[in-house]
Amino acid sequence: MRLGLAIFQRAGQAGMPVLRARLLGVQGRRSLVLDRTGFQPGGLSPPGRVGFQPAQQDQRRSPVRLGEVGEFNFIDRIAALTGHSGAEVLVGIGDDAAVLDTGSPEKLIVTTDAMVEGVHFRTEWLTYEEIGWRAMAACLSDIAAMGARPVATFASVALPADLDADLALDLTRGLAKCAEACGTALVGGDCAASPQRIFIDVMAVGTAKEPWLRSGAQPGDVLMVTGCLGDAAAAVAMLSNGQQRDAIAGHLLNSFVRPGPRLREAATLAESEIVRAALDISDGLVQDAGHLAKQSNLGIRINSQTVPISDNCRQAALALDCDALQWGLAGGEDFELLLAMSEDGAEEAAQLLRDGCGTNLTVIGQIVEGDGVTVLDANGQEIPVPRAGWDHFGE
Ligand SMILES: [Mg+2]
Repeated sequence: MRLGLAIFQRAGQAGMPVLRARLLGVQGRRSLVLDRTGFQPGGLSPPGRVGFQPAQQDQRRSPVRLGEVGEFNFIDRIAALTGHSGAEVLVGIGDDAAVLDTGSPEKLIVTTDAMVEGVHFRTEWLTYEEIGWRAMAACLSDIAAMGARPVATFASVALPADLDADLALDLTRGLAKCAEACGTALVGGDCAASPQRIFIDVMAVGTAKEPWLRSGAQPGDVLMVTGCLGDAAAAVAMLSNGQQRDAIAGHLLNSFVRPGPRLREAATLAESEIVRAALDISDGLVQDAGHLAKQSNLGIRINSQTVPISDNCRQAALALDCDALQWGLAGGEDFELLLAMSEDGAEEAAQLLRDGCGTNLTVIGQIVEGDGVTVLDANGQEIPVPRAGWDHFGE
């Protein structure tokens, strides 16, 4: 889930602590330390040093852990903290990216996306170049979700100092290669030492005349999705099951290790002005559809029989005794586009993508009055979705 520019700006407003921490990192090698009075020469202050006082954390609040709050409630609370945006901020927190009005006909689209080792990726499963590629692809997928064209990207990485320098370069090569493959470039960023795990934050800037928002769906619209769903989840399930990479169908493995953001598809459809609402599927179809429903103040009905599942995905599910449909409904990181448009526009949109990009666009449901997401079987009975997607702090 991306927070958009508003939270990015907020982090910048708190720039002094950030700057100080950076200075500590650089100057610490020259035995300068930061304490309550600023930088002073000497070794790193041990907690027991005379005069040392730990920062006083606010004890007034009841201790509620992030896991109890959940990722999306936490983001809602951040949004409440950020107050009113300036007139230039057309869309702040709550969509795939922020939309900024710079006075030119095209709006500026800005988004950030973080990946953490052990949470988003494992070095046992991915090369360092693939780790970089995926981080960039995830961020650019949000640019596609806005119907935007990428202009530039930036990446900040925190890496353990004992990491092999060639592997670290491989990671940044993956970032740059993906950006280039998507018609843009990696033009800046930051590096920091990480005490243990790899952390990557990618920022992408794009432009769009009429950005697609999650809030634009109308009752009676059809819900469409690009490509197939569940392939990345199938690859992860096979890797989790101990399968070697070369034993996994190339199509499945690629969808996980080298996903391609749907930027060409977005550009093709943006020209047609058919799309009313959109987002990309990063956390799982049902969960992401829920974001579109919530932002549009409407409900969504998904017809499970029409969710596009690839043959490779079905075969993997058979081999592992898993349910391919559940991967399609709740598996994350498909990076396909979920689009709402009028029923009349659906066939034209599908033809545009078929002819222009060789990509399938499938109707999988309807936008309806009400709220929430319902998944129906062939008989119109509701299907439970045990795990409705990814929540970073969810328990
Ligand atoms: Mg997104």
